Amino acid sequence: STIPKIVILGAGYGGILTAQRLQKELNYNEADVTLVNRHDYHYFTTHLHMPAAGTDSIEHTRVSISKLIDEFKIDLVKSNVKEIRLSDRKVILQDGTLSFDYLVIALGGEPESFGIPGLSEYAMTIRSINSVRLIREHIEYQFALYKLDESRTDRLNFVVGGAGFSGIEFVAELADRIPRLCKEYDVDPSLVNIYNVEAAPAILPGFDSELVEYAQNVLVKKGVQFKIGIAIKECMEDGVVLANGEVIRSATVVWTGGIRGNRLVEAAGFETSRGRVMVDEYLHAPGYEHVFIIGDNSIMLNPEGRPYPPTAQIAMQQGVTCAQNVVASIRNKELKKFAFSNKGTVASLGKGEAVASAFGKKYKGWVAAQIKKLVDIRYLFIIGGIPLVLKKGRFL
Ligand code: FAD
Repeated sequence: STIPKIVILGAGYGGILTAQRLQKELNYNEADVTLVNRHDYHYFTTHLHMPAAGTDSIEHTRVSISKLIDEFKIDLVKSNVKEIRLSDRKVILQDGTLSFDYLVIALGGEPESFGIPGLSEYAMTIRSINSVRLIREHIEYQFALYKLDESRTDRLNFVVGGAGFSGIEFVAELADRIPRLCKEYDVDPSLVNIYNVEAAPAILPGFDSELVEYAQNVLVKKGVQFKIGIAIKECMEDGVVLANGEVIRSATVVWTGGIRGNRLVEAAGFETSRGRVMVDEYLHAPGYEHVFIIGDNSIMLNPEGRPYPPTAQIAMQQGVTCAQNVVASIRNKELKKFAFSNKGTVASLGKGEAVASAFGKKYKGWVAAQIKKLVDIRYLFIIGGIPLVLKKGRFL
């Protein structure tokens, strides 16, 4: 047939928004749309720190993709992408091959270990439903093991590498969870140590300094011990070595210190920087009018010439523009330039606490925590309307 084939890789923030907008804008039989994702559910990456620490359930963190798209209009393929072949316009899956006329790459990023020895072997990451299940179970298991041999207080040391967005949000949830675990396992809370190690000179890089100070104070009060301006030099099975020579014994290291683009993007032959592709203003991979890259795998520069940080917010907005541009390409119409509209940033600091800069203002504490809830609810509404808000929304 001459109907163009559109293939979307990844059903995260960027991929879901692209699929939903395509489904809305394309006419009947105007194109074949296939959405490929490793799981049959979409997960809220921005919420993963909670099930990782065990302060919220997995079910509040994911939704089945079939609830988000119309499967009469979009083919959902649950599979692993193995290779992107630009030369003959094919995508190799674990169990098959797809050919495309238009490709949207929305596979999300991967943890970056910066070559730190042992990190990829021994550290866990907050990356997917599966990776956070492991973290939660592992933490509980350490408490259980400690009770069998109380000389092993190192089992009660928890190390979080990285104090960016995800590191801070996770460490805050962990600090909220620890007292409950101590009660459940009859453990003296004063024996538990939560360390947050960050190589940069401050936590939450890019955030307003007043909010950073507030956040750090909240977390110190919750019992987090910061090691700021100190890099992790090596990760071992039983702890970490810091750049200052200090060794922290711990069986639990969670690495949030960096993300890079997906290896498949690099392997496809695009020019990348840390796995990311500098896309043009229409979201094209340079030199490929029929390939779009959005979300964590793309780089776009802000008006000051610096790359926008990879966020769910920009991935979603890119998804909308990407869908419009795929439709415009098919119809031989003019493409739209992507313009990021920054709605602000919120970092949660555990129950009832957050910092936010939004609407040109700064917020902290309870008010910021309510803004965080609104952001989450707004997202549920965008992708799933009122029914999804009622099903997955957290209002308390
Ligand atoms: P993703 O949302 O990561 O989606 C990629 C999808 O592709 C996934 O469904 C994955 O399963 C699938 N996939 C990957 N590889 C394959 C493969 N080989 N085959 C098939 N499928 C595959 N951003 C914000 O804006 N605000 C926040 O508050 C915020 N908080 C965060 C908190 C945490 C703990 C973390 C980890 C991140 C946070 N972020 C936040 C960043 C945000 O989550 C990412 O920038 C965003 O998810 C990127 O969207 P994406 O569409 O590029 O990829």
